[in-house]
Amino acid sequence: MADIDIREVGPRDGLQIEAPLPVDARVRLIEALLDAGLHHIEVGSFVSPQAVPAMADTGAVVAALGPRAGVRMVALVPNRKGAELATDAGLTDLSVTVSASPAYNEKNVGMSILESIAQVAQIVSIGPASVDAVVSCAFGSPDEGDIAPTVVAALADRLLDAGATSLTYADTTGMATPRRVDDLLAETGPAVGLHFHETRGTGLVNAYAALLAGVRRFDTSIGGLGGSPFADGAAGNLATEDLVHLLDDLGRSTGVDLDRLLAASELAASLVGHSVPSRVAAAGPRLPLPSRSRLA
Ligand code: ZN
Repeated sequence: MADIDIREVGPRDGLQIEAPLPVDARVRLIEALLDAGLHHIEVGSFVSPQAVPAMADTGAVVAALGPRAGVRMVALVPNRKGAELATDAGLTDLSVTVSASPAYNEKNVGMSILESIAQVAQIVSIGPASVDAVVSCAFGSPDEGDIAPTVVAALADRLLDAGATSLTYADTTGMATPRRVDDLLAETGPAVGLHFHETRGTGLVNAYAALLAGVRRFDTSIGGLGGSPFADGAAGNLATEDLVHLLDDLGRSTGVDLDRLLAASELAASLVGHSVPSRVAAAGPRLPLPSRSRLA
């Protein structure tokens, strides 16, 4: 059993801002991630294909993958209709985003925060096995600036009351710092997932701060793919290989094989047609494979 639960979000959060890939390419990437030992994967979203063309046909991706023993495949859904489509496709682990920033929530899903909380209750009502509520802009937003941990914690309570089974705090626009991670976790406790972006180069130090504070679940994206529409040219999500590389050195088990993960990262780069922002993908592990094998 892995000590740290890594939810790989590249096939959704990473690919959603890229030019749409064909279903078979999305399936190949997920297969490579599974092969690397990632067993908790956000495989896509059930949103309007007009709004997010790269996430059209997520149902076909799920159908091509088929059920996998011991693997949690998660779909992001914005509302009850999305949840029904995901359930019809055979997925019972869902995630839904609600922003701590009223302005961002309006832009992202066209709803007020209260309307979004009501949607969470609607999603829960159709009976999925799990609903992870992802609180975006949990460390601040470009619109409102800093958002107090007490405000985030109050929203989290509302989401749990609506039936969410777990919470993830997302640093959507890269405003978190280790100090602010400590401040939020002091308010909420460490039994949450965290989702960091490298917009300002703090994703990995934020994850390390969270790890020291007792957090055991992280969202990461292969290659560091993904990004925020509000931060031009910035790096995207915390890269899976960068976090696994750190955790390996700390002796924390993830169940992930770094070399296979780097192969998946190379595949991701070739599929999207550009290099990925991950530092470990660019530089390679600090010890090359033969040395690491001898040490193991
Ligand atoms: Zn993200």
